[in-house]
Amino acid sequence: MSAKLRLTLWVTFMVLVVSAMVLVFVLVINRHSLPEDPAEYLVEVVMDNASDVEFDRGSFEWNEMTVYKRGVYCSFYNTNGDLLLSADKEDMDFSDEPFKENTIRTVTSGDKEFYLYDRYVDMEVTGLWIRGVVMTDSHVGITNVILRLTVMILPIILIITFLGALWISSRTFKPIEKIVATANSINDADDLTDRINLKRGPKEMKQLARAFDRMFERLEKLFEAERQFTSDASHELRTPTAVILAECDRAKRKAKTPDDYRESIGHIETQGQRMSDLIEELLGITRLQQGTEKYPLKKSDLSEFITLSAEEFVPSEKRGIRLETEIEDGIECSFNPSLMSRVVYNLLQNGYKYGKENGYVQLRLTKEGGDAVISVKDNGIGISEEDQSKIWQRFWQADSSRVNEGGSGLGLAMVKEIAELHGGSVSVESTLGEGSTFTFRIPCGGAAA
Ligand code: ADP
Repeated sequence: MSAKLRLTLWVTFMVLVVSAMVLVFVLVINRHSLPEDPAEYLVEVVMDNASDVEFDRGSFEWNEMTVYKRGVYCSFYNTNGDLLLSADKEDMDFSDEPFKENTIRTVTSGDKEFYLYDRYVDMEVTGLWIRGVVMTDSHVGITNVILRLTVMILPIILIITFLGALWISSRTFKPIEKIVATANSINDADDLTDRINLKRGPKEMKQLARAFDRMFERLEKLFEAERQFTSDASHELRTPTAVILAECDRAKRKAKTPDDYRESIGHIETQGQRMSDLIEELLGITRLQQGTEKYPLKKSDLSEFITLSAEEFVPSEKRGIRLETEIEDGIECSFNPSLMSRVVYNLLQNGYKYGKENGYVQLRLTKEGGDAVISVKDNGIGISEEDQSKIWQRFWQADSSRVNEGGSGLGLAMVKEIAELHGGSVSVESTLGEGSTFTFRIPCGGAAA
């Protein structure tokens, strides 16, 4: 049974139970509000009226009289039998009945039976007939009316409740059907671009649909990034593989002298080294991103570490560039040494690769607030504003640098991962043709210096 139908039936059942309870309640109240024996009560009401009659300065005090009380109707006549006051009830007009004091009579009007009771009050100057009338089955009569009304109205209420609950639950659950349909279509068609895009429906469902849409969007981006990564990785590995194979082929067919062989082996070694570096970098960044390897942070002297890293740094190509360092002493920070030396190496290597011939690369370490800030500045080719947000993506390289330098495009992606692992950040400021400054910032804990 669907949740929709279950909910509808439950609501309808509850309305039925509540109606039954109300009915029982009304019947009980009715039973207690009407006297057990109507005839006895009739006499009581008439006698009450008789004792309350007052005649003052030629007229009766009608205010004291009770014309109707719990099913009993009273009429008042003068000694000539003229009606003075009565409850306005057409089917209870018994004015034609002769007065008969102190006897309870049974009279009929239409198909109903009544008890009639007369009482004469002698006021000396005048007299007053009080006539009380009550239905013989007044109690049963009202009960019957209530039951008859219930039988007529209850089915209508139940039908309206059922249809209303079905309508509301259909509207409530419709978005879920849409969410399921979208999830199925994404699954079946393998198309992550589909969205639920729920415009109408209850607030909670809209929130649920929006959460799913955000999840689909994130999944789409992740899958796209993975697809891009796989295609780029295979593309990057294909070039050195092709060179190695071509070199082997050439050596087999053409190489004759030991020098020819040496040259071929040299080419193969270069490409092999390039592949090995690429795989190493790929593994490194994947480990960082997946968190499969633990990189414990150790509190030690960052100033000393950076000074040493700068001294040990050997650029792949010097191109007349000089390295200038400005390192603030005694900066204590928690960091992972092997990752931090990777950061210094990648940033300095880029400074040399994309720096100006005979120019400079500046390495600075300062403390700003509670953060340690490493910055690497060069006066080289710079990066366009448009490219500045892309350089952090894996395998991304500016067209010119890809052709000229043959890097992997993984260095900065790794620097960014390392910054995040230290709870820090990395940013770039650059002007095309003038140079770039990379700023790597990690928190060193404790209060601001
Ligand atoms: P790679 O240097 O191996 O290509 P990176 O991830 O280190 O990969 O850098 C990505 C790209 O960012 C580079 O290809 C280059 O276009 C650009 N880039 C990085 N550092 C600099 C820099 N100092 N000056 C100019 N461009 C840079």
